[in-house]
Amino acid sequence: MAGAAAVERVEVIVIGGGIAGCSLAGALSAQRQVLVLEREAQPAYHASGRSAAIYIEPYSSDPIFALTLGTLPFLLNPPEGFAEAPLLTPRGYLLLAPKGSEAEVDAYLENWAHRCTDLAEISLEAAHGLLPVLRQGYAGRAVYDRNALAMDTHGMIQGYLRQVKAGGGRFQGGAEVVGIEKFGDTFTVTLASGERFEAPVVVNAAGAWASAVGALAGAAPLRLSPLRRSAALISGPEGADVRAWPAVSSLQKSFYFKPEGGELMVSPADETPFDACDAYPDDYDLAVGIARAEECADLKVQRINSSWAGLRTFSDDGQPIYGFDPTLPGFYWCAGQGGTGFQTAAGGAAWCAAEILGTAPPEAVMAQPFDTAAFRPERFA
Ligand SMILES: Cc1cc2nc3c(=O)[nH]c(=O)nc-3n(C[C@H](O)[C@H](O)[C@H](O)COP(=O)(O)OP(=O)(O)OC[C@H]3O[C@@H](n4cnc5c(N)ncnc54)[C@H](O)[C@@H]3O)c2cc1C
Repeated sequence: MAGAAAVERVEVIVIGGGIAGCSLAGALSAQRQVLVLEREAQPAYHASGRSAAIYIEPYSSDPIFALTLGTLPFLLNPPEGFAEAPLLTPRGYLLLAPKGSEAEVDAYLENWAHRCTDLAEISLEAAHGLLPVLRQGYAGRAVYDRNALAMDTHGMIQGYLRQVKAGGGRFQGGAEVVGIEKFGDTFTVTLASGERFEAPVVVNAAGAWASAVGALAGAAPLRLSPLRRSAALISGPEGADVRAWPAVSSLQKSFYFKPEGGELMVSPADETPFDACDAYPDDYDLAVGIARAEECADLKVQRINSSWAGLRTFSDDGQPIYGFDPTLPGFYWCAGQGGTGFQTAAGGAAWCAAEILGTAPPEAVMAQPFDTAAFRPERFA
Protein backbone atom coordinates (compact mmCIF):
# COMPACT_ATOMS: atom_id res chain seq x y z
CA MET A 1 0.00 0.00 0.00
CA ALA A 2 1.38 3.40 -0.98
CA GLY A 3 2.05 5.76 1.98
CA ALA A 4 0.38 9.17 2.23
CA ALA A 5 2.32 11.95 0.45
CA ALA A 6 4.65 13.85 2.81
CA VAL A 7 3.34 17.21 4.06
CA GLU A 8 5.92 19.99 3.89
CA ARG A 9 5.99 22.24 6.95
CA VAL A 10 6.95 25.94 6.80
CA GLU A 11 6.54 28.85 9.21
CA VAL A 12 4.18 31.00 7.12
CA ILE A 13 2.12 30.20 4.01
CA VAL A 14 1.13 33.18 1.87
CA ILE A 15 -1.69 32.58 -0.61
CA GLY A 16 -1.34 34.92 -3.60
CA GLY A 17 1.74 35.97 -5.53
CA GLY A 18 0.78 39.55 -6.34
CA ILE A 19 2.37 42.59 -4.73
CA ALA A 20 0.37 42.07 -1.49
CA GLY A 21 1.61 38.51 -0.99
CA CYS A 22 5.14 39.06 -2.27
CA SER A 23 5.74 42.22 -0.21
CA LEU A 24 4.44 40.68 3.01
CA ALA A 25 6.42 37.49 2.37
CA GLY A 26 9.52 39.63 1.79
CA ALA A 27 8.95 41.63 4.96
CA LEU A 28 8.66 38.39 6.98
CA SER A 29 11.54 36.60 5.32
CA ALA A 30 14.36 37.68 7.64
CA GLN A 31 12.52 36.08 10.58
CA ARG A 32 10.36 33.39 9.02
CA GLN A 33 10.60 30.73 6.33
CA VAL A 34 7.77 31.68 3.97
CA LEU A 35 6.10 29.74 1.18
CA VAL A 36 4.21 31.85 -1.39
CA LEU A 37 1.56 29.80 -3.21
CA GLU A 38 0.32 31.27 -6.50
CA ARG A 39 -2.24 29.67 -8.80
CA GLU A 40 -0.72 31.15 -11.96
CA ALA A 41 2.64 30.00 -13.31
CA GLN A 42 4.32 33.33 -12.57
CA PRO A 43 3.95 36.08 -9.93
CA ALA A 44 1.97 39.28 -10.59
CA TYR A 45 -0.17 37.82 -13.38
CA HIS A 46 -3.39 39.55 -12.27
CA ALA A 47 -3.85 43.10 -10.81
CA SER A 48 -0.16 43.42 -9.95
CA GLY A 49 0.91 42.93 -13.56
CA ARG A 50 -1.64 45.43 -14.90
CA SER A 51 -1.21 48.60 -12.84
CA ALA A 52 -0.37 52.12 -13.93
CA ALA A 53 2.64 52.02 -11.57
CA ILE A 54 2.26 55.59 -10.30
CA TYR A 55 3.01 56.81 -6.79
CA ILE A 56 0.63 59.66 -5.87
CA GLU A 57 0.53 60.96 -2.28
CA PRO A 58 -2.69 63.03 -2.42
CA TYR A 59 -4.90 60.00 -3.04
CA SER A 60 -7.77 58.30 -1.25
CA SER A 61 -7.96 58.38 2.56
CA ASP A 62 -5.88 59.37 5.61
CA PRO A 63 -4.74 55.80 6.44
CA ILE A 64 -3.79 55.15 2.80
CA PHE A 65 -1.94 58.46 2.70
CA ALA A 66 -0.04 57.38 5.84
CA LEU A 67 0.89 53.99 4.36
CA THR A 68 1.93 55.70 1.12
CA LEU A 69 4.30 57.97 3.06
CA GLY A 70 5.40 54.91 5.02
CA THR A 71 6.33 53.20 1.74
CA LEU A 72 8.41 56.03 0.31
CA PRO A 73 11.62 55.49 2.36
CA PHE A 74 11.76 51.85 1.22
CA LEU A 75 11.25 52.75 -2.44
CA LEU A 76 13.82 55.54 -2.27
CA ASN A 77 16.35 53.45 -0.45
CA PRO A 78 15.62 49.71 -0.75
CA PRO A 79 17.75 47.21 1.15
CA GLU A 80 21.10 46.19 -0.33
CA GLY A 81 20.61 43.75 -3.23
CA PHE A 82 16.85 44.38 -3.50
CA ALA A 83 16.90 46.10 -6.88
CA GLU A 84 19.38 46.49 -9.71
CA ALA A 85 18.11 49.96 -10.68
CA PRO A 86 16.26 52.76 -8.85
CA LEU A 87 12.66 51.81 -8.09
CA LEU A 88 11.41 55.37 -8.56
CA THR A 89 11.71 57.90 -11.36
CA PRO A 90 10.20 61.40 -11.51
CA ARG A 91 6.83 61.58 -13.26
CA GLY A 92 4.67 64.49 -12.03
CA TYR A 93 0.86 64.55 -11.95
CA LEU A 94 -1.17 67.23 -13.69
CA LEU A 95 -4.78 67.54 -12.53
CA LEU A 96 -7.04 69.59 -14.76
CA ALA A 97 -10.36 71.08 -13.68
CA PRO A 98 -12.43 71.31 -16.88
CA LYS A 99 -14.12 74.67 -17.43
CA GLY A 100 -17.18 74.92 -15.21
CA SER A 101 -15.65 72.84 -12.41
CA GLU A 102 -13.06 75.39 -11.24
CA ALA A 103 -14.57 75.64 -7.74
CA GLU A 104 -13.67 71.99 -7.05
CA VAL A 105 -9.99 72.90 -7.04
CA ASP A 106 -10.41 74.81 -3.76
CA ALA A 107 -11.88 71.80 -1.94
CA TYR A 108 -9.17 69.52 -3.35
CA LEU A 109 -6.35 71.82 -2.29
CA GLU A 110 -7.89 72.41 1.11
CA ASN A 111 -7.93 68.65 1.70
CA TRP A 112 -4.42 67.89 0.43
CA ALA A 113 -2.15 70.91 0.03
CA HIS A 114 -1.27 71.28 3.73
CA ARG A 115 -0.07 67.64 3.82
CA CYS A 116 1.50 67.47 0.36
CA THR A 117 3.64 70.54 0.17
CA ASP A 118 4.74 69.80 -3.41
CA LEU A 119 1.12 70.09 -4.54
CA ALA A 120 0.10 73.50 -5.85
CA GLU A 121 -2.14 75.29 -8.28
CA ILE A 122 -0.29 76.32 -11.43
CA SER A 123 -1.24 78.69 -14.23
CA LEU A 124 -2.80 77.36 -17.41
CA GLU A 125 0.32 78.56 -19.23
CA ALA A 126 2.46 76.43 -16.94
CA ALA A 127 0.09 73.48 -17.50
CA HIS A 128 0.50 73.96 -21.23
CA GLY A 129 4.28 73.97 -20.75
CA LEU A 130 4.06 70.57 -19.03
CA LEU A 131 1.58 69.17 -21.56
CA PRO A 132 2.15 70.91 -24.91
CA VAL A 133 -0.92 69.20 -26.46
CA LEU A 134 -3.31 70.56 -23.82
CA ARG A 135 -6.31 71.95 -25.70
CA GLN A 136 -6.94 75.66 -25.29
CA GLY A 137 -10.25 76.15 -23.51
CA TYR A 138 -10.42 72.69 -21.89
CA ALA A 139 -9.21 73.49 -18.41
CA GLY A 140 -10.38 76.30 -16.14
CA ARG A 141 -7.72 75.66 -13.49
CA ALA A 142 -4.77 73.30 -13.05
CA VAL A 143 -3.00 71.65 -10.12
CA TYR A 144 0.42 70.02 -10.28
CA ASP A 145 1.96 67.44 -7.97
CA ARG A 146 5.65 67.41 -8.80
CA ASN A 147 6.22 64.67 -6.23
CA ALA A 148 4.31 62.01 -8.23
CA LEU A 149 6.67 59.19 -9.20
CA ALA A 150 6.81 56.23 -11.55
CA MET A 151 7.43 52.92 -9.74
CA ASP A 152 9.30 49.93 -11.12
CA THR A 153 6.60 47.44 -10.14
CA HIS A 154 8.37 44.48 -11.77
CA GLY A 155 11.53 45.36 -9.83
CA MET A 156 9.52 45.50 -6.61
CA ILE A 157 8.04 42.02 -7.11
CA GLN A 158 11.42 40.54 -8.05
CA GLY A 159 13.13 42.23 -5.09
CA TYR A 160 10.63 40.86 -2.59
CA LEU A 161 10.92 37.36 -4.05
CA ARG A 162 14.71 37.54 -3.76
CA GLN A 163 14.24 38.38 -0.07
CA VAL A 164 11.95 35.35 0.34
CA LYS A 165 14.57 33.09 -1.25
CA ALA A 166 17.38 34.56 0.85
CA GLY A 167 15.31 33.79 3.96
CA GLY A 168 15.06 30.10 3.04
CA GLY A 169 11.53 30.36 1.65
CA ARG A 170 10.25 30.11 -1.90
CA PHE A 171 7.63 31.10 -4.48
CA GLN A 172 5.66 28.20 -5.95
CA GLY A 173 3.70 28.94 -9.12
CA GLY A 174 0.97 26.71 -10.58
CA ALA A 175 -0.14 26.19 -6.98
CA GLU A 176 -3.90 26.66 -6.69
CA VAL A 177 -5.07 26.40 -3.10
CA VAL A 178 -8.30 24.37 -2.92
CA GLY A 179 -8.43 23.48 0.78
CA ILE A 180 -7.46 25.09 4.11
CA GLU A 181 -8.08 23.16 7.30
CA LYS A 182 -6.97 23.82 10.85
CA PHE A 183 -6.05 21.03 13.26
CA GLY A 184 -4.98 22.34 16.66
CA ASP A 185 -2.59 25.23 16.03
CA THR A 186 -1.65 24.09 12.53
CA PHE A 187 -3.18 24.84 9.15
CA THR A 188 -3.03 22.24 6.38
CA VAL A 189 -3.24 23.83 2.93
CA THR A 190 -4.09 21.59 -0.02
CA LEU A 191 -3.40 22.38 -3.66
CA ALA A 192 -5.40 21.30 -6.71
CA SER A 193 -2.44 19.00 -7.48
CA GLY A 194 -2.97 17.21 -4.16
CA GLU A 195 0.25 18.59 -2.61
CA ARG A 196 -0.16 19.63 1.02
CA PHE A 197 1.67 22.09 3.25
CA GLU A 198 1.47 22.93 6.94
CA ALA A 199 2.09 26.14 8.84
CA PRO A 200 0.91 27.86 12.02
CA VAL A 201 0.15 31.07 10.07
CA VAL A 202 -1.66 31.42 6.73
CA VAL A 203 -1.85 34.80 4.97
CA ASN A 204 -4.75 35.52 2.65
CA ALA A 205 -3.31 37.80 -0.05
CA ALA A 206 -5.53 36.47 -2.83
CA GLY A 207 -6.58 39.85 -4.27
CA ALA A 208 -9.91 39.59 -6.07
CA TRP A 209 -10.27 36.02 -4.71
CA ALA A 210 -9.66 36.94 -1.05
CA SER A 211 -13.29 36.42 0.03
CA ALA A 212 -13.28 32.99 -1.66
CA VAL A 213 -10.01 32.02 0.04
CA GLY A 214 -11.40 33.23 3.39
CA ALA A 215 -14.46 31.01 2.82
CA LEU A 216 -12.22 28.01 2.04
CA ALA A 217 -10.64 28.42 5.47
CA GLY A 218 -13.97 28.99 7.27
CA ALA A 219 -12.84 32.51 8.27
CA ALA A 220 -15.09 35.52 8.87
CA PRO A 221 -17.21 36.28 5.77
CA LEU A 222 -15.51 39.53 4.76
CA ARG A 223 -16.68 41.04 1.50
CA LEU A 224 -14.07 42.16 -1.02
CA SER A 225 -15.40 43.52 -4.29
CA PRO A 226 -13.34 43.51 -7.48
CA LEU A 227 -13.86 46.56 -9.72
CA ARG A 228 -12.56 46.41 -13.26
CA ARG A 229 -10.26 49.12 -14.62
CA SER A 230 -9.36 49.21 -18.31
CA ALA A 231 -6.36 50.65 -20.10
CA ALA A 232 -5.13 51.09 -23.66
CA LEU A 233 -1.73 51.90 -25.08
CA ILE A 234 -1.75 54.45 -27.89
CA SER A 235 0.99 56.23 -29.81
CA GLY A 236 1.64 59.87 -28.99
CA PRO A 237 1.22 62.62 -31.59
CA GLU A 238 3.69 62.47 -34.49
CA GLY A 239 7.07 63.86 -33.46
CA ALA A 240 6.16 64.39 -29.78
CA ASP A 241 8.39 62.88 -27.11
CA VAL A 242 5.72 61.84 -24.62
CA ARG A 243 8.30 60.49 -22.17
CA ALA A 244 8.68 63.91 -20.58
CA TRP A 245 4.94 64.40 -20.05
CA PRO A 246 3.43 64.07 -16.59
CA ALA A 247 0.56 61.76 -15.74
CA VAL A 248 -2.60 63.72 -16.56
CA SER A 249 -6.08 63.38 -15.09
CA SER A 250 -9.25 65.39 -14.79
CA LEU A 251 -9.77 66.55 -11.23
CA GLN A 252 -12.92 64.41 -11.19
CA LYS A 253 -10.82 61.33 -12.15
CA SER A 254 -13.00 60.66 -15.21
CA PHE A 255 -9.92 59.58 -17.24
CA TYR A 256 -6.16 59.64 -17.06
CA PHE A 257 -3.23 59.16 -19.35
CA LYS A 258 0.49 58.82 -18.72
CA PRO A 259 3.69 57.96 -20.56
CA GLU A 260 4.43 54.26 -20.77
CA GLY A 261 7.75 53.73 -22.50
CA GLY A 262 7.41 55.77 -25.69
CA GLU A 263 3.62 55.31 -25.77
CA LEU A 264 0.71 56.65 -23.73
CA MET A 265 -1.42 54.58 -21.38
CA VAL A 266 -5.01 55.87 -21.38
CA SER A 267 -7.69 54.78 -18.94
CA PRO A 268 -11.32 55.84 -18.45
CA ALA A 269 -10.66 55.31 -14.71
CA ASP A 270 -13.60 52.89 -14.77
CA GLU A 271 -14.76 51.04 -11.67
CA THR A 272 -17.09 48.34 -12.99
CA PRO A 273 -18.16 45.64 -10.51
CA PHE A 274 -16.79 42.36 -11.89
CA ASP A 275 -16.49 38.76 -10.73
CA ALA A 276 -12.97 37.63 -9.88
CA CYS A 277 -11.45 36.33 -13.11
CA ASP A 278 -8.73 36.94 -15.69
CA ALA A 279 -10.14 40.40 -16.46
CA TYR A 280 -10.43 41.67 -20.02
CA PRO A 281 -11.20 45.20 -21.24
CA ASP A 282 -14.45 46.38 -22.74
CA ASP A 283 -14.15 48.23 -26.09
CA TYR A 284 -16.75 50.79 -25.08
CA ASP A 285 -14.86 51.66 -21.86
CA LEU A 286 -11.64 52.08 -23.84
CA ALA A 287 -13.40 54.33 -26.37
CA VAL A 288 -14.80 56.47 -23.54
CA GLY A 289 -11.32 56.88 -22.02
CA ILE A 290 -9.81 57.85 -25.35
CA ALA A 291 -12.64 60.28 -26.14
CA ARG A 292 -12.18 62.04 -22.78
CA ALA A 293 -8.42 62.21 -23.25
CA GLU A 294 -8.92 63.64 -26.75
CA GLU A 295 -11.29 66.27 -25.35
CA CYS A 296 -8.50 67.39 -23.03
CA ALA A 297 -5.51 67.03 -25.33
CA ASP A 298 -4.77 67.08 -29.02
CA LEU A 299 -3.89 63.38 -29.32
CA LYS A 300 -5.57 62.30 -32.62
CA VAL A 301 -5.77 58.61 -31.72
CA GLN A 302 -5.76 56.42 -34.85
CA ARG A 303 -5.61 53.01 -33.27
CA ILE A 304 -5.18 51.14 -29.99
CA ASN A 305 -1.77 49.45 -29.91
CA SER A 306 -2.72 47.11 -27.07
CA SER A 307 -5.17 47.01 -24.19
CA TRP A 308 -5.83 45.24 -20.92
CA ALA A 309 -7.93 45.36 -17.77
CA GLY A 310 -7.27 44.51 -14.15
CA LEU A 311 -9.32 44.17 -10.99
CA ARG A 312 -8.89 46.70 -8.20
CA THR A 313 -10.38 45.03 -5.14
CA PHE A 314 -12.01 47.00 -2.33
CA SER A 315 -13.52 46.24 1.06
CA ASP A 316 -16.91 47.77 1.89
CA ASP A 317 -15.33 50.95 3.32
CA GLY A 318 -12.58 51.21 0.70
CA GLN A 319 -9.72 50.60 3.15
CA PRO A 320 -7.49 47.51 3.05
CA ILE A 321 -8.16 44.64 5.46
CA TYR A 322 -5.00 43.92 7.45
CA GLY A 323 -5.10 41.72 10.53
CA PHE A 324 -5.73 38.30 12.05
CA ASP A 325 -9.19 36.93 11.45
CA PRO A 326 -11.40 37.57 14.51
CA THR A 327 -12.79 34.02 14.41
CA LEU A 328 -9.87 31.97 13.07
CA PRO A 329 -6.60 32.59 14.94
CA GLY A 330 -3.52 32.35 12.77
CA PHE A 331 -5.38 33.27 9.56
CA TYR A 332 -4.16 36.73 8.47
CA TRP A 333 -5.98 39.00 6.01
CA CYS A 334 -3.87 41.14 3.65
CA ALA A 335 -6.41 42.18 1.06
CA GLY A 336 -8.45 45.05 -0.38
CA GLN A 337 -5.56 47.26 -1.51
CA GLY A 338 -7.82 48.72 -4.22
CA GLY A 339 -6.03 51.21 -6.44
CA THR A 340 -2.99 51.77 -4.24
CA GLY A 341 -1.47 48.33 -3.75
CA PHE A 342 1.97 49.31 -5.01
CA GLN A 343 2.31 52.75 -3.49
CA THR A 344 1.33 51.36 -0.07
CA ALA A 345 3.12 48.00 -0.44
CA ALA A 346 6.23 48.47 1.67
CA GLY A 347 4.40 50.35 4.44
CA GLY A 348 1.52 47.88 4.49
CA ALA A 349 3.84 44.86 4.41
CA ALA A 350 6.02 46.20 7.23
CA TRP A 351 2.95 46.93 9.32
CA CYS A 352 1.41 43.47 8.72
CA ALA A 353 4.75 41.69 9.25
CA ALA A 354 5.22 43.44 12.60
CA GLU A 355 1.78 42.27 13.66
CA ILE A 356 2.45 38.66 12.62
CA LEU A 357 5.84 38.71 14.35
CA GLY A 358 4.42 40.43 17.45
CA THR A 359 6.81 43.38 17.17
CA ALA A 360 6.29 47.14 16.90
CA PRO A 361 5.83 48.53 13.38
CA PRO A 362 8.94 50.29 12.06
CA GLU A 363 9.08 54.02 12.80
CA ALA A 364 9.06 54.96 9.10
CA VAL A 365 5.64 53.34 8.69
CA MET A 366 4.13 55.20 11.64
CA ALA A 367 5.80 58.56 10.90
CA GLN A 368 2.44 59.88 9.73
CA PRO A 369 0.09 58.84 12.57
CA PHE A 370 -3.11 57.06 11.54
CA ASP A 371 -5.89 55.11 13.17
CA THR A 372 -4.77 51.50 12.78
CA ALA A 373 -8.32 50.34 13.60
CA ALA A 374 -9.18 51.52 10.08
CA PHE A 375 -7.62 48.31 8.70
CA ARG A 376 -8.84 45.74 11.22
CA PRO A 377 -11.05 42.87 10.03
CA GLU A 378 -13.07 43.34 13.25
CA ARG A 379 -14.64 46.49 11.82
CA PHE A 380 -16.83 44.28 9.62
CA ALA A 381 -17.50 41.52 12.16
C1 LIG B 1 -5.44 49.37 -14.33
C2 LIG B 1 -4.89 49.43 -12.92
C3 LIG B 1 -4.10 50.52 -12.56
C4 LIG B 1 -3.53 50.57 -11.27
N1 LIG B 1 -2.66 51.59 -10.99
C5 LIG B 1 -2.04 51.61 -9.79
C6 LIG B 1 -1.07 52.62 -9.51
O1 LIG B 1 -0.79 53.47 -10.34
N2 LIG B 1 -0.46 52.61 -8.27
C7 LIG B 1 -0.76 51.66 -7.32
O2 LIG B 1 -0.21 51.70 -6.23
N3 LIG B 1 -1.68 50.68 -7.59
C8 LIG B 1 -2.31 50.64 -8.78
N4 LIG B 1 -3.23 49.66 -9.05
C9 LIG B 1 -3.64 48.77 -7.96
C10 LIG B 1 -2.66 47.62 -7.74
O3 LIG B 1 -2.33 47.04 -8.99
C11 LIG B 1 -3.36 46.61 -6.83
O4 LIG B 1 -3.74 47.25 -5.61
C12 LIG B 1 -2.45 45.44 -6.48
O5 LIG B 1 -1.87 44.90 -7.64
C13 LIG B 1 -3.21 44.34 -5.73
O6 LIG B 1 -2.29 43.32 -5.47
P1 LIG B 1 -2.75 41.92 -4.90
O7 LIG B 1 -1.52 41.17 -4.65
O8 LIG B 1 -3.72 42.13 -3.79
O9 LIG B 1 -3.63 41.27 -6.07
P2 LIG B 1 -3.18 40.37 -7.32
O10 LIG B 1 -2.04 40.95 -8.02
O11 LIG B 1 -4.41 40.12 -8.13
O12 LIG B 1 -2.67 39.04 -6.65
C14 LIG B 1 -3.54 38.11 -6.06
C15 LIG B 1 -3.04 36.73 -6.49
O13 LIG B 1 -3.70 35.72 -5.73
C16 LIG B 1 -3.75 34.58 -6.57
N5 LIG B 1 -4.74 33.63 -6.05
C17 LIG B 1 -6.07 33.87 -5.90
N6 LIG B 1 -6.67 32.77 -5.42
C18 LIG B 1 -5.72 31.82 -5.27
C19 LIG B 1 -5.74 30.47 -4.82
N7 LIG B 1 -6.87 29.85 -4.44
N8 LIG B 1 -4.56 29.78 -4.80
C20 LIG B 1 -3.39 30.38 -5.17
N9 LIG B 1 -3.34 31.67 -5.61
C21 LIG B 1 -4.48 32.38 -5.65
C22 LIG B 1 -4.13 35.14 -7.91
O14 LIG B 1 -3.81 34.26 -8.97
C23 LIG B 1 -3.34 36.44 -7.95
O15 LIG B 1 -2.13 36.32 -8.65
C24 LIG B 1 -3.82 49.56 -10.33
C25 LIG B 1 -4.62 48.49 -10.68
C26 LIG B 1 -5.14 48.40 -11.98
C27 LIG B 1 -5.97 47.21 -12.35
